[in-house]
Amino acid sequence: MKSRRLLLSSSLLCAGLYVVVAGQPSSPAPAASALRWFKGNTHTHTLNSDGDSSPDDVVRWYRDHKYNFLVLTDHNYLTSVDGLNALHGADDKFLVVKGEEVSSGFQSRPLHINALNPDRLVPPSREGSTVAAVLQNNVDAIRMAGGVPHINHPNFGWAITADDLAGLRNNKLFEVYNGHPMVNNAGGSGHPSLEQTWDTLLSRGILLFGLATDDAHEFKKLDDLSSSRPGMGWVMVRAEKLEAKAIVAAIERGDFYASTGVELAAYEATATAITLKVKPRLWGSQPSENMWAGYRITFIGKGGAVLQEVEGTDATYTVKGSEGYVRARITQSDGKAAWTQPVVVGR
Ligand SMILES: [Zn+2]
Ligand SMILES: [Zn+2]
Repeated sequence: MKSRRLLLSSSLLCAGLYVVVAGQPSSPAPAASALRWFKGNTHTHTLNSDGDSSPDDVVRWYRDHKYNFLVLTDHNYLTSVDGLNALHGADDKFLVVKGEEVSSGFQSRPLHINALNPDRLVPPSREGSTVAAVLQNNVDAIRMAGGVPHINHPNFGWAITADDLAGLRNNKLFEVYNGHPMVNNAGGSGHPSLEQTWDTLLSRGILLFGLATDDAHEFKKLDDLSSSRPGMGWVMVRAEKLEAKAIVAAIERGDFYASTGVELAAYEATATAITLKVKPRLWGSQPSENMWAGYRITFIGKGGAVLQEVEGTDATYTVKGSEGYVRARITQSDGKAAWTQPVVVGR
């Protein structure tokens, strides 16, 4: 991570994108293999578990809303995607990816882990005498099935703590934001927020990447703000092509940022500096109503310490070498946010 450098185009098609290994001369990526950014959601339900709409209707919503990919993740059910891709898929534009929300538990705690692009259904396991042991058994089962695991909504039912995640092997991903109204992203009642949990783990040297997801169940009540609607949280993933294996591999590499409404026009991370540029959002549809949203860019390091904070759309953080890690949160004036992945520093 610390030698990564990347530039984002403000459009999804990233012409002119450079990838540089720190300390080596830069060179433009060949046009034919240019990396591109794809918008996607990795957590959504259909009638095949407790969603309110058919896979066809769910996929249609995401395609209509300009997503590039969608992972269908019904509880303990692997929804077939071949027919959906035949109907809705389009080369370089839209792809449905197989997935499952492997839904287990320990005592009364819900332990849910998404399997991205598994080869087969993964039966949930309740084996294990601790939360951590049950999580590990399910992560292992997902890996055995060729899937990539991501830990879902740790604060749902206050089920999963930083200590539960600290010893987990072969898992790189967790939801730092989940759009379901019952999952306690912000913590409460003495429990830390998911960002605090993230910083606790990163500070202990455990590298996790943070996803934002919808966990959408309800597509028939889109105006009901208390429903589990689509369009709440997503990821922008940098991959060489819009194919399931390439997308999932890029997510597991941490080549993505998470968002609930902030779009980045540029992001560059090297061993010495991190530079961000927000694509500002204009409120209002009439010229007289036009007003730019405000932004705060916060760079965060070990212990959740604020390293630097900038009001505006552009910021550069110069690495000092003792931060442990640096990650950024970008907050829009309406409270929506984006999170970049941690860059490990000084290890
Ligand atoms: Zn769940
Ligand atoms: Zn779910």
